[in-house]
Amino acid sequence: MKLPVILLYHSVAADGSDCGEPTRIPLAQFVGQLDLLRRLGYRTIGLPQLRDRLDRGAVFSRRELLITFDDGYRDNCDTAWPALQEHGFSAVFFLSTAWIGRASDFNSHLSLPMINWDQAADMASQGAEFGSHGHRHVDLRELSPEQAALDVRTAKQALSAKLAPPVPSIAYPYGFSSPAVRRLVEREGYQLGFGVSRTGNADRFDLPRMTITHGEPLWRFRLRLLHREVSG
Ligand SMILES: [Zn+2]
Repeated sequence: MKLPVILLYHSVAADGSDCGEPTRIPLAQFVGQLDLLRRLGYRTIGLPQLRDRLDRGAVFSRRELLITFDDGYRDNCDTAWPALQEHGFSAVFFLSTAWIGRASDFNSHLSLPMINWDQAADMASQGAEFGSHGHRHVDLRELSPEQAALDVRTAKQALSAKLAPPVPSIAYPYGFSSPAVRRLVEREGYQLGFGVSRTGNADRFDLPRMTITHGEPLWRFRLRLLHREVSG
């Protein structure tokens, strides 16, 4: 495999309520997926392993996995992280640094409390990894090159000051980037960039992720995993 399977989550709801936001999934759905991943023998790898193996052009085993979360919702800490730990999985959390410790309002129909720096530091001490989701959570393709550079630089500086992640990485807000954005991110010192494109060409600044949405039956999740395995 050129790339491991990389899953993209956003929010996990402990009470299982359906708030109409497709990227907010109930805890039962999340745990069902983690149970399946464990049963199938998946194990999570971290950003340093991913970067080092991409550097060497090494292949990945079929059952290697990265679990990622975008935005930095408080439930990532309260609900998702304990479930991940129970299953022996690690994960990477991409934070929009301007929103830390506040409530999100970049998402038109959903405002949720966000993680704060102390919670992130706690999780990091337990093995969670962190990356940048931009500073203000704006589509970097729509900013001037100067504004985009400032946004990703601000996020990177805040993260290195607070959490010192060993591999500076970014997940593009809304999932999309352009060649210009990817070059700019590399110039700003990031080493990996995560997107949502379906087909992986092993571009380390546009790593493809499999988006998880509310209500997907487990059989379909399993089918998509299998598809990633054979196409990766
Ligand atoms: Zn986002």
